[in-house]
Amino acid sequence: MNHKKLFIPGPVEVDEGVLRKMATPMIGHRSSEWSELQQRVSEKLQTLMYTRNPIILSASSGTGLLEMAIRCTTAKRAIVFSVGAFGNRWHEIAEGNGVPADKHEAEWGSGTTPEIVERYLSTGKYDLATVTHNETSTGVMNHVEELAEVFRKYPDVLWCVDAVSSLGGAKIEVDKLGIDICVTSSQKALGLPPGLSLASVSEKAKQRAQRIDKRGYYFDMLLLLQYVVERKFQYPSTPSISHTFALDFALDRILNQEGLEARFARHREIAEYVRSWAKRHFALFPKEEYASNTVTCISNTRQISVKDLNGKLAERGFTISNGYGALKEKTFRIAHMAELQKTDLEELFGHIEEILELTG
Ligand SMILES: *Cc1c(COP(=O)(O)O)cnc(C)c1O
Repeated sequence: MNHKKLFIPGPVEVDEGVLRKMATPMIGHRSSEWSELQQRVSEKLQTLMYTRNPIILSASSGTGLLEMAIRCTTAKRAIVFSVGAFGNRWHEIAEGNGVPADKHEAEWGSGTTPEIVERYLSTGKYDLATVTHNETSTGVMNHVEELAEVFRKYPDVLWCVDAVSSLGGAKIEVDKLGIDICVTSSQKALGLPPGLSLASVSEKAKQRAQRIDKRGYYFDMLLLLQYVVERKFQYPSTPSISHTFALDFALDRILNQEGLEARFARHREIAEYVRSWAKRHFALFPKEEYASNTVTCISNTRQISVKDLNGKLAERGFTISNGYGALKEKTFRIAHMAELQKTDLEELFGHIEEILELTG
């Protein structure tokens, strides 16, 4: 098979061992074997997320749980702090569900600042806020520790975080930061195939949901929680059993074989390497203080054809990502998350330099 190695921000390159676990023979999802598997995976995820909150697994991609969060826990009005396309999606989800919501969209390439959060929360109009931890369209990683200090002053406002393209590649201390709902997908920094997502849910979020009438059905947070907590690690419908086997295996590698600190350090080091390459030959799209440690968005200062570059890379067995939406051809993106090593990036850059005849 003529596989192209993925340097796109999801789906990412999946390790052979993880792929093989996807082929594990099925078990019944009402069996104790399943509950033990779900419990094991949940406990490992709590370690990864630095939380004691229960973990909801969903047989959907991450967007499903973003919808769950904003629909099930906004009683008054939501404020969406957007720094790009995925932040904007959260506002579209609110509108599609009839959830009252406003949006603050930062200039692309910049982050959400504590001042902006303060300005909105101090109006008293909102009881839920969403923040994108890592904005995949612009390569911006928000400084959530700084934002947490503002949220601490407003305990009645639930704080939901989209960590889809960073959880597993960057440290997010959910309980310390006071994040009420933290969402991620399988196909990004966790390094699995797409089709599973997960979220941690605080007690405060659960209590809020009890006041919301129409929570939908498939993404009803209370129903999902009821199956996790009261029915002890069950799922209301049929879970993605294959993903759960693979995740159990992948989390052992992440937590025990590599270790969390080493994993986060590897992501930081590779990100620095990619940024230094980008600055030598092009320029960073985001302000450097916000530059992401899982995906780098590079300004196309040489006016190359990103499409042609990707075509030539494909012949050599590699794929990178064009810019997102309006940033197409104006930027391109190189993901460096999950299991990629620095040598993988060195190899990629070697090919890009040859194709573009870059020197120095
Ligand atoms: C990929 C991505 C999403 C969408 O996740 P899906 O799993 O494709 O539904 C949402 N937010 C961010 C930041 C992403 O990178």
